[in-house]
Amino acid sequence: MKVLVNDQLLERDQAFVDIEDRGYQFGDGVYEVVRLYNRRFFTFNEHIDRLYESAAKIELAIPFSKDTLRELLTTLVKENDIHTGNVYLQVSRGIQMPRNHIIPDDFPLEGVLTASTTEVPRNLEKFVSGGSAITAEDVRWLRCDIKSISLLGNIMAKNKAHKAGALEAILHRGDIVTECSASNVMIIKDGELWTHQSDNLILNGITRQVILDVARKNGITVHEADFTLADLHGADEVFISSTTLEITPITAIDGTVIGNGLRGPISARLHELYEQEVIRQCGEFEAVK
Ligand code: PMP
Repeated sequence: MKVLVNDQLLERDQAFVDIEDRGYQFGDGVYEVVRLYNRRFFTFNEHIDRLYESAAKIELAIPFSKDTLRELLTTLVKENDIHTGNVYLQVSRGIQMPRNHIIPDDFPLEGVLTASTTEVPRNLEKFVSGGSAITAEDVRWLRCDIKSISLLGNIMAKNKAHKAGALEAILHRGDIVTECSASNVMIIKDGELWTHQSDNLILNGITRQVILDVARKNGITVHEADFTLADLHGADEVFISSTTLEITPITAIDGTVIGNGLRGPISARLHELYEQEVIRQCGEFEAVK
C-alpha cells in the first residue's frame, strides 16, 4: 500500500509527518475525499476546485498546480489498484518551529500534501434500507463552508449518533437545520426538495450539487432555503448525501419514524438519476471481485 507525501509515493510504513506540522498541532489544513468507480474518479475537478477554494479561504498555498495534483493522485490510485474506493487527501500549512499561532509573513513553508486510498464498495443495501438519525445542536464554528481538517465539532456529533445507535447526527442552529456531521441533509415535502442554502453554515457537498442539478433537470422543485426542525420531523422523505453515502435514506429521527419508515419514491428516483451521472462519468458499474 502506497501513500503520497508531497510528490513522493512511499510505502505506508515509511510515511511520517513532523510533530511540529501545523496540521498536527493546530488542525491548520484542508482536505478532500474523492470517490472512484471502475478505477475512474467521479467529479474529480469539482473536488480539486473545492480543495483550492478551501485553501484560498485560509490563505494556504497548495504546493502543486491542479494538473500536477491530479496526476499525483492518479498515479497513487493506479499504484494501489483501487477499483471502487476513496482517496483522502489533505494539505496542511506545514512545519513551523517553534509552535506559534501567528502565521509569519515570510512563512518559509509550503503546504504539506498527504494522500491515502481505501477500497470502499458501494453499500447497496444501505442505500435502500437507510438508517436512523439523531438531532444535535450545531456547535461548530461559522465557516463550515471550508473543508477544514479541524473536525472536533463534527466528530463529537457523529460519536453521539454512534452511541445512540444512529447513522448520523442532523445538526441545527436553534430551529434551523443546517447539515449533518459528515453529510448534507435534504427533505422532501409535497414532492418538493428542501435543503439549506450554500453559505457559511454548511459544506457545499459535491454530492449535494450533483443531486440538486439532476433534480432541477428532471422537474423536481428545489428550495435552497432554511427549513426547521418541525419541517424535518414532518417531512415525507429525508435523506443524507455524501461522496461515500451517495443518497442514504433516513427513516427515523430521534426515535420518530419518517413517512412510512421506508425509502421514499423521490429519494429512490434521485438515486437513480445520481447513478446515471456516475455511469456517464465512470461507465456502467462493474462487478467488484
Ligand atoms: N457536510 C459535511 C460536514 C461533510 O463532512 C461532508 C462530507 N465530507 C459533506 C457535507 C458532503 O460533502 P461531499 O458530498 O462533497 O462528500
